[in-house]
Amino acid sequence: MASILSHAFVSFAAGKSVTFLSNRRKALVAGAICAIVPDFDAIGYWLGVPYRSMFGHRGFTHSFFFAALLATAVLALAFRKDAKGAKEYVFLWTYLFVATALHPIADAMTNGGLGVAFFAPFSAHRYFFPFRPIEVCSIGFSDLVNGNGAAIFANEFKWLWLPSLAVMGLSLLVRRRG
Ligand SMILES: [Zn+2]
Repeated sequence: MASILSHAFVSFAAGKSVTFLSNRRKALVAGAICAIVPDFDAIGYWLGVPYRSMFGHRGFTHSFFFAALLATAVLALAFRKDAKGAKEYVFLWTYLFVATALHPIADAMTNGGLGVAFFAPFSAHRYFFPFRPIEVCSIGFSDLVNGNGAAIFANEFKWLWLPSLAVMGLSLLVRRRG
């Protein structure tokens, strides 16, 4: 994985870059949380679920199917009264889906571990992108507090935070001009 902080920031920035979200602040917080949820599969480590299995790390919770399920659940539980009309619900759902899916997409660009089961539960195949510049990081904060922390953060800043900040800046610029 990339660190959960970076996952959360990427999805927060994605939400910041669009204008169509109703109840924006709440949506951004929900998007950042959605970006972290896929790594809850780490619980499987302690329960003895093999990494390679469909429900191992980077398995089911890192699939597009899970992103759709999570977006639907969060929308139903947290945003029932927020959106006005079908269009706003569709926008919110789309953002929550993308916010979750950005996590496995970033993981598929890391240089270690197993690939991501994008199409679980229909296929257990693990995928990586051909471009994998992101330094892999342990689950939780252990890598961030041991000696690797600074190097990992510098790498994630370059490959996740900078592009996110650039997209955010660009969207602000376009909005200002518009
Ligand atoms: Zn992950």
